[in-house]
Amino acid sequence: DNALLNINNLTLHYYTKNLEISAVDDVSIYVEKGKVLGIAGESGSGKSTLAKAIFKILPSSAKILKGEIIFDGKNILDMDEKTFSKEIRWKRISYIPQVSMNSLDPVYKIKYQLLETIFVHEDISRAEALERIEKLITSVGLPLEILNKYPHELSGGQKQRVMIAMALLLNPDLVIADEPTTALDVIIQAQIISLLKNIQQEKKLSMVFITHDLSLLAQVSDMIAIMYAGRIVEFGSVEDIYYNPKHPYTKLLLKSVPNIKDRKRKLESIPGEVPDLANPPKGCRFHPRCPLAQDICRKENPSPIRVGPNHYVSCFMVGEGNA
Ligand code: ATP
Ligand code: MG
Repeated sequence: DNALLNINNLTLHYYTKNLEISAVDDVSIYVEKGKVLGIAGESGSGKSTLAKAIFKILPSSAKILKGEIIFDGKNILDMDEKTFSKEIRWKRISYIPQVSMNSLDPVYKIKYQLLETIFVHEDISRAEALERIEKLITSVGLPLEILNKYPHELSGGQKQRVMIAMALLLNPDLVIADEPTTALDVIIQAQIISLLKNIQQEKKLSMVFITHDLSLLAQVSDMIAIMYAGRIVEFGSVEDIYYNPKHPYTKLLLKSVPNIKDRKRKLESIPGEVPDLANPPKGCRFHPRCPLAQDICRKENPSPIRVGPNHYVSCFMVGEGNA
């Protein structure tokens, strides 16, 4: 078992004034050491919620009802906040949030923010810390001058590179990147993606890479999890997902991206609507949009079936000769 992160049967709901939102339901996936798990799914399918659960920054309206998140042999859900923030957060697991363009503090220079992150966790000299920061800033392709600038003086792409440097500052084992390039233009996006991929390979980092852009996933991932309405419908290697997809949803997704280099086509092009997670469909959550749906799909929730060494599909029609 070479997994660094094992999520088992994770189920969590958000509780708002009058709604109970089933944002993550019975999710089981893993990330191997030194590998990238890509998570794809339409808007609202629960990707960021899952990322926040791993980083233990869920809002108080979220309640975990079931499951475990095993990181390096320990269930982090059993860990108290003090222990987690001291031993794991930033140090072993880091996070590039979805709206990271705005997650730098506007009142402090970049240098100060990076130094602070180190000093909270490590007892090293200022000179040592600065040396590490300068190395990292250079390695993410930024000029050292930006260290003396405020966040508003940087471009979106530069800020995103600072966030990547921040995520690498304490030499973590696992980086969670939640749509790290969504707000950037296509050329900058491509540069940042290849930067992340190079750093990941060089440092043999494990990574969870979240996107709703399927064309990006093939470039960066080793394994891919396809998320639909809070559940993982298919989980497998890049080859499994792209060349031997089994779930009707995965197949539709791939059809909607005829050429994985075609960046304009997104997951949104599948007919029908993403279900309301305050009132999710009974049975398989995809059944209202599924061309193969039968009675059982409307009644029961399909469990993952193993269809290859590392390939799992949650669909009643798999093995029925249909999927
Ligand atoms: P996107 O691609 O748009 O970023 P996502 O896959 O990251 O979407 P989440 O942000 O995880 O989706 O949201 C999953 C579900 O949980 C959605 O129905 C969303 O409305 C709901 N949700 C997210 N955050 C909260 C919250 N703080 N309170 C209540 N519901 C929430
Ligand atoms: Mg999100």
